[in-house]
Amino acid sequence: MSQPHTSGVFGRWNAIPLWQKILAGLVLGLIVGLVFGPAAAKVKPIGTAFISGIKMLIVPLVFVSLVSGVTAMRDPAKMGRVGLKTIGLYLCTTAVAITIGLLLGSVLAPGAGVGMEAAKAVAPKAAPSLIDTLLGIIPTNPIAAMSTGNVLQVIVFAILLGLAINLSGEAGVKVRDGFDALAQVMYKLTAIVIWFAPFGVFALMAWTAGTYGLDLLLPLGMVIVAVYAGCLIHAFLVYGGALWAMGLNPLLFFKGVAEAAAVAFTTTSSSGTLPVTMTCVRKNLGVSQGVSGFVLPLGATINMDGTALYQGVCALFVAQVFGVTLSGGDYVTIILTATLASIGTAGVPGAGLIMLSLVLSTVGLPLEGVAIIAGIDRVLDMARTSLNVVGDAMVATVVAKSEGELSREVYAAGRDAVGELEDA
Ligand code: ASP
Repeated sequence: MSQPHTSGVFGRWNAIPLWQKILAGLVLGLIVGLVFGPAAAKVKPIGTAFISGIKMLIVPLVFVSLVSGVTAMRDPAKMGRVGLKTIGLYLCTTAVAITIGLLLGSVLAPGAGVGMEAAKAVAPKAAPSLIDTLLGIIPTNPIAAMSTGNVLQVIVFAILLGLAINLSGEAGVKVRDGFDALAQVMYKLTAIVIWFAPFGVFALMAWTAGTYGLDLLLPLGMVIVAVYAGCLIHAFLVYGGALWAMGLNPLLFFKGVAEAAAVAFTTTSSSGTLPVTMTCVRKNLGVSQGVSGFVLPLGATINMDGTALYQGVCALFVAQVFGVTLSGGDYVTIILTATLASIGTAGVPGAGLIMLSLVLSTVGLPLEGVAIIAGIDRVLDMARTSLNVVGDAMVATVVAKSEGELSREVYAAGRDAVGELEDA
């Protein structure tokens, strides 16, 4: 596909790989934020514009790509297999992530020796029941679900509509072709918005570094170290190991998802990053449209390994700060609650912090802990959202490989085989 501009400033700009431009934006933003401090917040509107553009894509992209993902898997047995593999992998990796978080929280003991008194004892609160969670995802009005951005309900409607299209014979074929065409158009629109990513990433990074600075980050440094270390360990050991076990080179995978990880890092929204994740997974890793269209929108909504890991570290931090000893049963409760809570966590900035209060209260830990974490939550959100997004991409890649829906040539050659993302 031809570039819109092949010469002049635009031509030279388009010739630079997108990941390099995003990385440059990130580093430049950090420098500007640290040098100018709070004044750097002046560039935030550029970041807000980028986030708005990307948010604009979420509902139509999730809906259209899921419907066309389901209709691409006409065989009901295949659909069931892919669905089971996807959800099984999502739940297992999340449970492992929170266990890593708990281990790091115990070993690094970020809250040891702080010694604070809780204002009052907190009675354990029950997590929402499984039946309520399940009933809540059936949309009574799919249009309302779209207009309010209830992505889980949109997903349920899209999957059911896709199944109905598959079962509708002649009429279904026409609708399916229409959705396939619409999906192509949505991917193009995505490419247009992503073109602005380097500027958006620069502005968001400048604002974050300018607002939070290094001083504020140091006192809670150990929590930050634990969460960042945990995310790296999980990515390289668990994701790297899973890919390696499937006969795929993990380094090529990490190179292929770099843009999505960088956008997640600065936007702190896995739903917001979804358009970039989809483009990376299809164009750089060679995952088929059917598998990526099904696995990724689901993952951006229900799979949150980074968030679960963070909750493990933070729960132990709060217990240490307030001198509460957790029992073996408490650990199991934390693992179960955080895994289920991660399904209900929206892929938007700061959602994990709200869910943290649920996890803390189920084991009776003081909610003042949430306030302490809140000061550094943005910095933690950056790491956990990147892991959330990379985890979705890993599951899409592994499921595609196991279904014979991964192009080995594209995976082996990475982005070099298909040119730049702008070519999407
Ligand atoms: N910001 C995270 C995400 O979008 C959710 C969270 O706050 O943990 O993936």
